[in-house]
Amino acid sequence: MSTTGPISLKPFNTFHIDESARECIEIHRREDLLQLQATRNQEPWYILGGGSNVLLTQAVHGLVVFNRLQGITCIREDETHVWIQAASGAIWHDLVLWCVERGYGGIENLALIPGTCGAAPIQNIGAYGVELTAVFHELEALDIQGGNIRLFSREDCRFGYRDSVFKQEAKGLYFIVSITLCLSKTPRVNTSYGGLQQVLQERGIAHPGIRDVADAVIAIRQSKLPDPAVTGNAGSF
Ligand SMILES: Cc1cc2nc3c(=O)[nH]c(=O)nc-3n(C[C@H](O)[C@H](O)[C@H](O)COP(=O)(O)OP(=O)(O)OC[C@H]3O[C@@H](n4cnc5c(N)ncnc54)[C@H](O)[C@@H]3O)c2cc1C
Repeated sequence: MSTTGPISLKPFNTFHIDESARECIEIHRREDLLQLQATRNQEPWYILGGGSNVLLTQAVHGLVVFNRLQGITCIREDETHVWIQAASGAIWHDLVLWCVERGYGGIENLALIPGTCGAAPIQNIGAYGVELTAVFHELEALDIQGGNIRLFSREDCRFGYRDSVFKQEAKGLYFIVSITLCLSKTPRVNTSYGGLQQVLQERGIAHPGIRDVADAVIAIRQSKLPDPAVTGNAGSF
């Protein structure tokens, strides 16, 4: 779906900043994305997932591309691990819950981080003692100008603290299409973060599983940060 403007971006960023765009387009399927690339590859794209890590300071002159690609699938498994691929427009927290429900461990500490799966590698999201890089396998990204889909391994992504190649040399060049994580079927939980241990102790949980950790993280986050849907904010930074 394409809309021409001016269109207010206020509902689409968690700061609720009322800047405008001259044109917005929603991408629901890969084919939509490839068609957009074929026809609009010479224009600057301003990709928006959940808008939880952007600070709009002026009207957006490029084409605003809302990422709505959906889907979470297990693409491979062995006795100990599963490789889970998530479309970049899937909500990150939905992916965490999907994995916790199935007993796949590794991202439970990252529960309730707002935003989409596709934005997660951009700043190597992290919280409560865990970063995305620990479970990251690879991602697919569309070269916006060239039109090729390229695979990026963990090494290619050059993850650092809230950093990756997508915030450096590759900034603005790619549309991340999907991410693949390698998760454990026999998870060992990470409760190294002090506040997490405290909540688990208060709940009388001596041997927590991944669901206990996710629940504790959710409780801590809900007690600390306002819900961006109610009070505009961009978390802590
Ligand atoms: C209340 C709150 C709590 C938070 N807590 C944490 C936390 O604990 N840890 C943490 O690491 N972060 C945290 N954040 C920051 C934020 O949630 C993450 O950075 C998240 O990954 C952003 O996802 P998004 O979909 O909202 O990205 P957006 O804000 O939509 O986009 C962020 C940037 O990525 C680009 N982008 C988005 N999707 C794509 C794509 N598919 N391809 C290419 N480029 C893309 C955008 O153009 C933009 O430059 C928090 C934010 C809020 C509001």
